[in-house]
Amino acid sequence: MREPITEGVPGARDGGAPGIERVLGRIKAREAGPTVLLLGGIHGNETAGVEGIRRVVDELERADALPHGDVFALLGNRRAYLHDRRFVDVDLNRIWKPSDPPYERLPAEGEGAAEFQEQRELLEELTMIFGEVRGPVHVLDLHTTSGEGAPFQGEFGASREPEEEWERGIPVPHVLGLESMIRGTLGAFLHRRWRARYVLFEGGQHRDPRSPLRAEAAIWTFLASIGLVPSSLEDRVTSSHRLLDDETRGLPDVLEMIHRHPIFPDQGFEMQPGFLNFQSVRRGQILARNKAGTIRAEFDARILMPLYQEVGSDGFFLVRDHHAVRPRGLRRPETERATS
Ligand SMILES: [Zn+2]
Repeated sequence: MREPITEGVPGARDGGAPGIERVLGRIKAREAGPTVLLLGGIHGNETAGVEGIRRVVDELERADALPHGDVFALLGNRRAYLHDRRFVDVDLNRIWKPSDPPYERLPAEGEGAAEFQEQRELLEELTMIFGEVRGPVHVLDLHTTSGEGAPFQGEFGASREPEEEWERGIPVPHVLGLESMIRGTLGAFLHRRWRARYVLFEGGQHRDPRSPLRAEAAIWTFLASIGLVPSSLEDRVTSSHRLLDDETRGLPDVLEMIHRHPIFPDQGFEMQPGFLNFQSVRRGQILARNKAGTIRAEFDARILMPLYQEVGSDGFFLVRDHHAVRPRGLRRPETERATS
C-alpha cells in the first residue's frame, strides 16, 4: 500500500525555499513493523545523500510493497540546499541542544536565523512521523565531507534488546565516540526525544560522482538489515554490499574518536593539502596552520574529516583503531558465540 509523497503533508509547503520539498519519501506497508527514517541535506551542500534517497525511494515506490513497516525520507536544510551552502545563518546540525531556544518557542515564520525556521518546520514533520510509527525507529542520516576518502559510519542510541537485534547493516568502518565530540546534533536530539536509534553515514567528498552511489548503497544495506527491502530488490542489496566492501577494503572495522580540533572563524585555519579520511599520521606531523602557527598531530593516529572548505567548526578529527570490540557484524557465527 502506498500513499502520495507530499500531498497534504504540511511540512512540504514551500516556505522559504520555493520548489524544494521537505518530504522526499513516505512509503508504508500494510503490516506494522519497524520504521526507517532517511535524512539528507541537513547540510545544504551535501547533496549526495539527497540524490541517494531519491533513487531508493523511486525504486521502492515502483517495486512490490514493503514486507512490513514504514520508510520516511526528509530533506534537512531546504533553504541551504536551495543555495548549495552548508547553512544559511547557523549550522542546522549544531542547534539541537537542550539549552537552545525551547522548541516550542522557536521564532515565528520570517523571524530569526533561517535555520531556526528550518528547525521549526523539521520538528513539525518529525513530530508527525514519530506520531505515526508502528515499531522501533532507525534513523539514517546521510552526509558527505569536504575532504576525500573512504566512507564510514557512526551510531548511537542503539538498543541492544534481543527482540530488536539487527544485522549490522552498512559494511563500512564504524567510528565510535563521534556523538561525544559534537554537540547539538539532530541525531542526539532524536535519541533524547524519541529514543530513536541513529546512524550517521559519511559518504565521501561532496562533489565526488561516486558519493551518491555510496549513499544509495548505504541506504539499501541499512534497509536490508532491518528487513525493509522487498524481495524483488534483493539484487540492489547484493551490489551495494560489493560496492561498499570494495571502497573500504583494508580499513579497520571499528575505530574510536580520540581528538577533535575545533576552529573559530577568525583563526585563519588552513588544513595542509592532500589528507584523506583514514590516512595515518605520526605524532608531531604538521596537519594544519592558523594565524598562531602550525598545528601538529598530538598522537600517532588516523585523520578523519580534514576540513577543506571555508565553513565549518571542526578542523579535523583523529581516530585510532579500536581493538576492544568485535569487528563488523553484531551477530557472530554460532561457534564463536559459544566460546567467547
Ligand atoms: Zn554534514
